[in-house]
Amino acid sequence: MRSIILTSGHLQTMIDHVNAHMPLEACGLLAGRGSRVEKVFMVPNQAGSPVRYVMEPSAQLSAFEWIESSGMELLGIFHSHPAGPETVSPTDIAEAAYPVVHVILACVNNKWSARGFWIENAVFEEVDLKIE
Ligand SMILES: [Zn+2]
Repeated sequence: MRSIILTSGHLQTMIDHVNAHMPLEACGLLAGRGSRVEKVFMVPNQAGSPVRYVMEPSAQLSAFEWIESSGMELLGIFHSHPAGPETVSPTDIAEAAYPVVHVILACVNNKWSARGFWIENAVFEEVDLKIE
């Protein structure tokens, strides 16, 4: 799915999570059906870093198991850039492991923005995040 549909509540859940972890990066998963997100998972960032994230494996695995047992699909991965930029970093491109929408929540001038990107074969393109 190269675009995803979120509610404003999903967006706020992600922003609250990443804001609470400032100045470190925070991350999580988006699951749903079709292109519609139904569930936001917060996953600890075991890198504990302001510039990179590594999803804590057991939390990631239990989220994947929940998604599968619910008949949903992984639609997106989100993480924050607490000091910008609003686009994917070279590390994000190099480490992208799933064909899903990568949502970047960036804080610039104390204001959070959310943008979506599709990353495949070391190439990225911006995709629509529809907020309903
Ligand atoms: Zn990043």
